[in-house]
Amino acid sequence: MIERFLLVRPYYGINVHTDAQGEYGTVLGSNDVFPDLPLITAATILNESDSHEVKVIDAVTEDRMLPDELLRKIALLEYDKVLVKSTAPTFKADLELCRHIKAGNPSAYVMIDGQAVRHLKDWIYANTDIDLAIEEPVDMYIYRYVHGAAATVSDMPTPDYTLVNYRKYTDDYNNIRLTIQASRGCPMSCAYCPYIKYYGKYESRDADKVIGDLKAVTSLGADLIQFRDQFFTCDSKRIRELCRRIIDEGINVRWICETRLDSLTPDLIDLMKEAGLFLICFGVESGDQNILTEYNSNKGNIDYQRSTVEYIKNAGILTMAFYITGFPEDTWETLHATYRYADTVNSDIAAFNEYTEFNLSSESDISPDIFCSFENATAAKGLSSLSKEEIRYAVELFSTMYTLKHDTLEKAYNYNHKQLCDSRRLASKLKGHENDLDELSRIIRESS
Ligand code: SF4
Repeated sequence: MIERFLLVRPYYGINVHTDAQGEYGTVLGSNDVFPDLPLITAATILNESDSHEVKVIDAVTEDRMLPDELLRKIALLEYDKVLVKSTAPTFKADLELCRHIKAGNPSAYVMIDGQAVRHLKDWIYANTDIDLAIEEPVDMYIYRYVHGAAATVSDMPTPDYTLVNYRKYTDDYNNIRLTIQASRGCPMSCAYCPYIKYYGKYESRDADKVIGDLKAVTSLGADLIQFRDQFFTCDSKRIRELCRRIIDEGINVRWICETRLDSLTPDLIDLMKEAGLFLICFGVESGDQNILTEYNSNKGNIDYQRSTVEYIKNAGILTMAFYITGFPEDTWETLHATYRYADTVNSDIAAFNEYTEFNLSSESDISPDIFCSFENATAAKGLSSLSKEEIRYAVELFSTMYTLKHDTLEKAYNYNHKQLCDSRRLASKLKGHENDLDELSRIIRESS
């Protein structure tokens, strides 16, 4: 008998990058639409199985379908199991969506995944009708479910983007950007990292499969391919071989990766550029050495970082550095040091993100209230001497100053102020209505 799966990625008016932050999800202050790679891979596994059927509804790519319309659409479908992708910023609304689905189809087996679930499994079973809370990456779970054995990263199929309206996965410049993975996990142990707790140890994907993935997604007309690896050049020998194959096999592709600066050498940078590297992202995190030491996050000294960034830029590759603003130990002085540090590193783009406390194990009475709806924050008790408002002021000021230094005032306004303000305005209207999806949908429609 064929088992019918329905995989759902909801949308609640706020742009969430659902597989960012190790699948906690991140509210974006931009219009970039990222695929959810684990969800699409899970759908591909089911689609390739003779005993399963799958339908995917990515509400974001279906003209940003709102939850009331999504529920009406789901009500018309026939399925045995339904899986809802949750994120921390939308967790309460995701639970409500599951409740509606179950009420509309009591015989359906309802599942929820996403890293937020890892903290709330017991709460979910005690307080909802959800049948299964998936605590691991959903592609790993579905592989085991279908094949009866644990998967390695190399066991995963090439993601079949034709299962969704993939042309809607675009960046701010309307490039179609699809994601693949050449490795998963990381051998480092930065204490703030949300990835390693979910994906675990570093594991690389077979090079033949990565080449196959690249060919498959480029054949779909992707303008950009983003490797979702947490530490792309962790095994530099392997990446050298991969780049040589891309060059030798004439794969014409522009790609993006995220890695650590201290794993790069000039010859590796040159080779990656020749193989199509377009943008490289890396974490610098803080300008305060004591904070970096406290979080076990030493990624090279400033002279090395600055000269490496300069080398990458001179090679014609865009650079994007990540900074964490508002570590619990941050003060006004250390925040300012981080901005000055960013100024010295001098990447083309700098992303100043608010620190989010995901170390929730010490919180008693954990419930969905631990995740602040529609924002990148939790209610976990931090030690910070700075308030949320002060940290947000620093994030917006740094982002504006940095963009202004590297780009135009208009861009600083549009990207660092307007989109952020629009998103925050809507978020404040939506808060408190997570348990009323009709009202939530009405507010979003009225605001657009
Ligand atoms: S290097 Fe990056 S992925 Fe690895 S533990 Fe540190 S922050 Fe996480």
